Amino acid sequence: ESIMIQEGIQVLRRLEEAGYEAVFVGGCVRDRLLGRPLKDIDIATSALPQDVVRLFPRTAPTGLAHGTVTVIMETHTFEVTTYRKESEYEQFRRPKEVEFISDLDEDLRRRDFTINAMAQGPDGSCIDPFGGRDDLDKGIVRCVGDPMERFREDALRMLRGIRFACEYGFELEDGTWRALVRHAPLLEHVATERVTAELDRMIEGRSPDRAVALLVESGLPRHFKEPVEWPLARWERAPEATERSALAKLDGAALRWAGLFILMECEAEQAREAMKRLKFAGKKSDAVYRLLRADEWMRSRADGGDSRTGVEAEPSVFETVALGAVEFGRPVVREWLRLAGWRVEMMGDDGLRRLAAEGAAELERVPVDRIAELAVNGTDLTGALDKPAGPWLGRLLYELLTEAALRRLPNDRDVLLNEAKSRAKRETN
Ligand code: ATP
Ligand code: MG
Repeated sequence: ESIMIQEGIQVLRRLEEAGYEAVFVGGCVRDRLLGRPLKDIDIATSALPQDVVRLFPRTAPTGLAHGTVTVIMETHTFEVTTYRKESEYEQFRRPKEVEFISDLDEDLRRRDFTINAMAQGPDGSCIDPFGGRDDLDKGIVRCVGDPMERFREDALRMLRGIRFACEYGFELEDGTWRALVRHAPLLEHVATERVTAELDRMIEGRSPDRAVALLVESGLPRHFKEPVEWPLARWERAPEATERSALAKLDGAALRWAGLFILMECEAEQAREAMKRLKFAGKKSDAVYRLLRADEWMRSRADGGDSRTGVEAEPSVFETVALGAVEFGRPVVREWLRLAGWRVEMMGDDGLRRLAAEGAAELERVPVDRIAELAVNGTDLTGALDKPAGPWLGRLLYELLTEAALRRLPNDRDVLLNEAKSRAKRETN
């Protein structure tokens, strides 16, 4: 058994010795029964928060008002929460008040799905009043109690239900699914951040394609709180891609989101707007946007030439990736090439076939992709040309970088300074 579980059992035993009940609860019980690795262990106890604080040498008051104390053991930490009941719910969101109770079954009753409403004692015995074990075996996501009521209490549960179904390859139980479709409009009351966190986990999880299909089928995306003209519904335009489980073939959050926007025929700017409305983390949104911009740019380059008329020669793979590297940086082009491979494989994008096949190798032959790597800098150029800095300087550096990246010139100080001088002379003539 893992050290985390051993330490968790120590916490349970310590509470038991002091005369309280204590059990593992929720996700860790579910994942343990499924034989999946545990992310963390949540503990529920009849002890009050102040008792927990008293019993352990190292604790942190994580959410005292909600009954949660973090117990810090040697290698892991554990959230220990007093058995509680969530009496009143406010506006289809989290509960207004919590009430500490002494009965575990009551605590399990407030949990969302039967597979999440099980507990386990230190000896491994299961406490399962709602048939979670059975649903786990059958592969079913089912609300604890009346699904209509449970989704009215907290509308986020609808998204969680879809996420669990996708993560574990489960079906949503009929009544749960009906209630979900029926109550989809209640999602309007849920904070965008919570919604987006769930979407992230779906798209980055095991079955992003099924997640999107279920989202569309449920009607939930029409009811996000932010009035996004959310393009998810357009997924229906790409049914073939869904069947071939397209998104699952991309790894990494940014690639998956970029892939999704592509399947929905969203332009980079539209995608950026949608991500802003959905309150994506800036870093993630930037990464997705950059990939989509690179996608538009690289694709227009790749089929820039017209080989039939021979008016313009088709750019070589090397040229395309070198120019892309100057424009977006090598790491972005490298990542985009994976998107290009996916486009070829999933969407039969023949125009990208050669680029996708040879691009990664050619990209490594590009000697420089950043002005900082250039053998000359701004001071060198203002000195050599005896001109005060101005907009010309950035332009010139960019031109020299392009020449060096394309290997038309070596990245050598003297060569680049000479080039700069002859360009300056040409301009004054
Ligand atoms: P994972 O962490 O893998 O997403 P989890 O089951 O641990 O799964 P958490 O969000 O960490 O999910 O919540 C821990 C437990 O708290 C859940 O197993 C569930 O019993 C309960 N829970 C969480 N969110 C809700 C909710 N919105 N409504 C009811 N119960 C909830
Ligand atoms: Mg958890």
